[in-house]
Amino acid sequence: MLPEKLTLADRVLQVPPSPTLAVNAKAKALRAAGADILNFSVGEPDMSTPAHVCEAGKQAIDDGHTRYTPVAGILELREAVCARFKKEQGWDYTPDQVQVSCGGKHGLYNIFQAILNPGDEVLIPAPYWVSYPPMVQLAGGTPVIVPLKEENNFDLDPVALAQYVTSKTKAIILNSPSNPTGAVYSQASLEAVAKMAFDNGWLVVSDDMYEELTYTEGKIAHILNIDPRLKEQVVLSNGVSKSFAMTGWRIGYSVGPIEVIKAMNKIQSQSTSNPAAPSQYAALAALTGSQDFPGQLREAFLPRRAFFVRELQAIKGVTCVNPMGAFYVFPNFSAYFGKTFQGKVIEGSVALADYFLSEAKVASVPGAAFGADAFIRFSFATSMAVIEEGMARIRQALAALR
Ligand SMILES: *Cc1c(COP(=O)(O)O)cnc(C)c1O
Repeated sequence: MLPEKLTLADRVLQVPPSPTLAVNAKAKALRAAGADILNFSVGEPDMSTPAHVCEAGKQAIDDGHTRYTPVAGILELREAVCARFKKEQGWDYTPDQVQVSCGGKHGLYNIFQAILNPGDEVLIPAPYWVSYPPMVQLAGGTPVIVPLKEENNFDLDPVALAQYVTSKTKAIILNSPSNPTGAVYSQASLEAVAKMAFDNGWLVVSDDMYEELTYTEGKIAHILNIDPRLKEQVVLSNGVSKSFAMTGWRIGYSVGPIEVIKAMNKIQSQSTSNPAAPSQYAALAALTGSQDFPGQLREAFLPRRAFFVRELQAIKGVTCVNPMGAFYVFPNFSAYFGKTFQGKVIEGSVALADYFLSEAKVASVPGAAFGADAFIRFSFATSMAVIEEGMARIRQALAALR
């Protein structure tokens, strides 16, 4: 026990721990205790990092790349990021506009630390990725949650956004494809938001972590392709965690206006110094070597997604939007709220996810964690056999509610 006078910082009390990591830990603990848990809570591909990438990481160690690197990351990797954007999107960036960080997550953390003052508001469309509001709060900003509509396939909603704009609005977070909804923003909605951002001088934080994992025909719309003038206002957040199954290597990158990147480098220089050197060389191999892997992930995910969505939609009272990217389904279970199991009322997504875990041995993430209590998130980055068994258990568990 801490002495009475030794209190923790107020900021710790403001934010919850990451609920996705918490569910994952609980599922793992139950499994370790012998329970037959099917885990749909994980936010990472079920494939291993490609062999040539692992080799590059090992080689980096053998070559002595075991020391500090430049704060923003090794030049070769930042050049590779620029070359990639030039080739894929035609965007011109220089290496000093790139920061490599300890995962995309820490890049986002650096962005908010670099741009927010107390009272600054950040528009966050909901359902949102769990870490956006706490990151904004930890930087002293105010998250402003803008609900998106399921019947609109969770597309960005310029009309809804406009209702939440104030004189303190400083930034907006875009995430397409979205975690948790799988939504890919439409060209029309991005056009409207691009205009709002330009007219008001907002910073646009575009979290493109799932850009390689889309189920659309052709390239998805991007705000930078709609209005190139926004280049001075957009910070791109991306990384190798999802597209190259490298979540444990902890490499992400942010790209944007030089002033913002410089400020982020200052923050990073006083916190992590730089991401792990061997991981940077592995990421370099991922970006410059064979580009087959993201396509292989997509191929593996396609049938699982089709099966999961079809099965969920077939359950009475459940609706489920077809995800156009990422590897999650986000069904609406609100028709089951208010029902009971052994006299206990299932009040919302947290109670239902708990019920699924304890009675069906199915781990998932309650929608409340994403700012949308009607829903539950299931990852389909797991085998078809597990998804089939999981669906059977979910159906049975729902049927047992009175
Ligand atoms: C996974 C994820 C990230 C960050 O991933 P890292 O593991 O930190 O590279 C960022 N945004 C979204 C939406 C994600 O799902």
